[in-house]
Amino acid sequence: MPFSYRCKDIGYDCSFEFRAKEKKDLLPRIKIHTKYAHNVFEMSPDMIKKVEDACREDL
Ligand SMILES: [Zn+2]
Repeated sequence: MPFSYRCKDIGYDCSFEFRAKEKKDLLPRIKIHTKYAHNVFEMSPDMIKKVEDACREDL
């Protein structure tokens, strides 16, 4: 099953979403998006955890 991530799930007013076959493929893409779209240049460990929790398996 693919994994999906919605930016609004971590509190951004943003309609961006990603989908990938594997969860580990999501994080690098999310990092790039938050950097350019939300000016987050370095994610804190707390934020990375939030992002990982927001990556859900599509059922
Ligand atoms: Zn976003």
